[in-house]
Amino acid sequence: MLRGLKLFSKTSGLCPNASKSAVYCHGMLESDVNRVLETSSYTRSYLPFRYLGIPIFSKKISAAECTSILEKMTGKIRLWSTRNLSYMGRATLINSVLISIHSYWAQLMILPKKLLRDVEALCRSFLWKGSSDTHSHGLIAWDHLCLSKTAGGLGFRRILDWNEAAIGKYVWDIAKKKDNLFVKWINSVYIANRSWWDYSCPLDCSWYWKRIVAVKERFKHKVSLGSFLSQQYSIKRGLELMSVPGSKVSWNKFVWDRLITPKHRFIMWLVMWERLNTKDRIIKYNSSLDSICLLCGEADECIEHLFFQCLYSRKCLSAIKNWLNWHTQSINLVRLLKWISHAKASSIYKSMLMTILAATVYHIWRARNDVL
Ligand SMILES: [Zn+2]
Repeated sequence: MLRGLKLFSKTSGLCPNASKSAVYCHGMLESDVNRVLETSSYTRSYLPFRYLGIPIFSKKISAAECTSILEKMTGKIRLWSTRNLSYMGRATLINSVLISIHSYWAQLMILPKKLLRDVEALCRSFLWKGSSDTHSHGLIAWDHLCLSKTAGGLGFRRILDWNEAAIGKYVWDIAKKKDNLFVKWINSVYIANRSWWDYSCPLDCSWYWKRIVAVKERFKHKVSLGSFLSQQYSIKRGLELMSVPGSKVSWNKFVWDRLITPKHRFIMWLVMWERLNTKDRIIKYNSSLDSICLLCGEADECIEHLFFQCLYSRKCLSAIKNWLNWHTQSINLVRLLKWISHAKASSIYKSMLMTILAATVYHIWRARNDVL
């Protein structure tokens, strides 16, 4: 080891400063440790230590050691909670900022499942409540939010899969027999002359190595070694290989049309999932509530009634139809959307109709909430 260090100093011209260097030992006999310390003249230090902000352990990292990730996320949420953000604004922040906070760590190691569940819970609280304090369930299950937009989700990153896809890079490096120290070490200590694709790890090996082998098994069930190595590895490709794409929903184009205002899209998306918090849903867990529509006071409130059987919303729709010269008798949102998709009209005209319909739905929902 010392010879290696000397060779490194000779070739690179960099000399280790003994007062700033330490020896870290794990799984060694105390007598061997003392011999190393005597010959090297370095002092002994103990794990964990931090390297580029990441704690280095010899054992599995605990969720408690990763709390700084959650603290960073909570800090951001606290800052944002003072602003009046729409659901769509929050969804964008989750996908672009919050989830990426854990990316740096997730690319280097398999993170504890508890931490990943806590990260998801924080994102969920922020999406539905705008804060980090509540741990309530949302209107739609997190798993569904992680589906692609064409499959009815919001395209959120499934962080557990993402973590494994990031670690997939090591699986690929080993399979490719990349010329780096890590791969050489793995080959000499664990794999030796065996085939990596058929390799199974010994019971007494380290937790990290077991996890890398488990990620390899996940890939092995999906692809052959040849097609796994046929392209350069990227996390995106790893995710594609790992996950099962959800089936396409028929309404994705009604919701995600680019002309529609983002916050209107989100309400339309909830309507399509039939998860808008209308009274017929709330009454299931709050039986003291009456079911009467807040806008007309004449019928029970449900999505079908609000869009557009309700007297109030029927008037809104009728005014819109007159304004657009839109000749259809339908007063049912789903049928109106079908009418648009089957209409013999240009795509820009259809987009415009959907945009106006989405805005109408949004404003009726707002009018209803203003009465509350
Ligand atoms: Zn009504």
